Amino acid sequence: MEFSEIFDKIEEQLEGEAHLDELARKKQDPFKILISTILSARTRDANTRIATEKLFAKFSTPKTIAEANLDEIELLIRSSGFYKVKAARIKDVSRILVERYNSNVPDNYEELISLPGVGSKTANCVLVYAYKVPAIPVDVHVHRISNRLGWVKTKTPPKTEVALKNTIPKELWLKLNRLIVRFGQQICISIKPKCESCSINNICPKDFSMELAIKKKIKNKYN
Ligand code: SF4
Repeated sequence: MEFSEIFDKIEEQLEGEAHLDELARKKQDPFKILISTILSARTRDANTRIATEKLFAKFSTPKTIAEANLDEIELLIRSSGFYKVKAARIKDVSRILVERYNSNVPDNYEELISLPGVGSKTANCVLVYAYKVPAIPVDVHVHRISNRLGWVKTKTPPKTEVALKNTIPKELWLKLNRLIVRFGQQICISIKPKCESCSINNICPKDFSMELAIKKKIKNKYN
């Protein structure tokens, strides 16, 4: 089955809209998408949404966040996990955007990745969701599901990104993250995936070897 057909089959069983998808559809500015992506690290979509909206209701530009009191930023983004670290990061990134980029968010990977606390996933999310530049943001869902489906055989998200770029046709890159993240939240979930009701059950090799290897490693570490 072609990847485009697999993507269609995955999409037909999904509900709702991921937060970044919603921001992209509403054509929110790249700064909001960057900050929201930073806030989304290890945080549920619903909590990211609350933190983003609270923050942007009060401070909506790099300049206002750079000049804001750190305690106030922490308070506004409290619903997202690790809010102290994230608040400091957001303030720092905002300051650099003001100082070096005239308050604009860069539209290329090299400059994005040079911002404090911006890793490969965040940089690629900004490219995809803010600028529609083909890229593959790899989070835990994309890493896990790509391995389960046998698209890649990798141990880390950075290796998955490289492998996926060599496997998935470029015209599908923009779609991949928004599809697979929701698929990972709703169907192919981390623990007990809903294989019986999954629309691609018949073509899925159900390769859990990457996850089993991680579990084994953790078990050995504590035994
Ligand atoms: S069949 Fe199971 S493991 Fe395979 S994609 Fe569907 S939910 Fe995931």
